[in-house]
Amino acid sequence: GLSERKDEMPILEITGLRKTYTTRLGGNRVEALKNVSFTAEPGEYIAIMGESGSGKTTLLNILAALDKPTGGSVILDGMDLAKIKESKLADFRRDNLGFVFQEFNLLDTFTVRDNILLPLVLRGEKYPAMQPKLNSTAELLGISALLDKYPYEISGGQKQRTAAARAMITEPKLLLADEPTGALDSRSSDELLALFAEINRRGQTILMVTHSAKAASRAKRVLFIKDGAVFHQLYRGNCSDDEFYRRITDALTLLSSSEEPQSLRIKREGAE
Ligand code: ADP
Ligand code: MG
Repeated sequence: GLSERKDEMPILEITGLRKTYTTRLGGNRVEALKNVSFTAEPGEYIAIMGESGSGKTTLLNILAALDKPTGGSVILDGMDLAKIKESKLADFRRDNLGFVFQEFNLLDTFTVRDNILLPLVLRGEKYPAMQPKLNSTAELLGISALLDKYPYEISGGQKQRTAAARAMITEPKLLLADEPTGALDSRSSDELLALFAEINRRGQTILMVTHSAKAASRAKRVLFIKDGAVFHQLYRGNCSDDEFYRRITDALTLLSSSEEPQSLRIKREGAE
């Protein structure tokens, strides 16, 4: 029946995605995305890597329906983003997606508790119904003791775990993260990455953009974007974090030396 078909559907289907920015005076055109296609299955944990300026944030903004593509399509859990009415987009985002940004994006005048609860408040949930969700999410992210504090009173790592709690509390179909460890020291990065792995182990689908090979090595699959398209991908398979890290850095070395024969060779080897 319908529900069976739904179980087998990818959570995300991106086809031929293009984005061209044109400056206001019409002079310069930047082809940020030329032809991005990939599919994500429920429960996947995908890292997207690419050099600065390769279009990673552009891709996430389009997936988040914060920006519109020039061409191609994004289908999230069977829904074509282009077909969602402008007036429904904010609700759609809140009900289906969670976001973690490099710069945390917490509200400074709200406590940690109120920052985490914000998406539920906006959704109109009743306060008593929020409590169990708040408690379990805060416990998972190790911030139960910080709920009455304000963002300026806590560390960067704690801020990012607060942002992750805010993203998770709605149980989104897809968690999107843009360089989530980019502003963290290495210990806080490791802690956050361990939490993402645990959240994924519990079933959360995650798409994380990063230029850190270390961060990417915690995911189960890595997509490499270059020249506006997916150029290569690696699956973790049974690799340890350290082995996967080495395979990722090897791939990055080959990809950055843009000689054609090497690129083709690694592309073939990667077709697993
Ligand atoms: P990344 O996140 O991988 O560093 P971005 O998606 O931010 O890359 O940017 C991709 C390209 O698109 C870059 O050349 C960037 O300068 C350009 N770009 C991004 N946003 C805009 C914008 N709003 N207007 C014009 N150009 C943009
Ligand atoms: Mg970016």
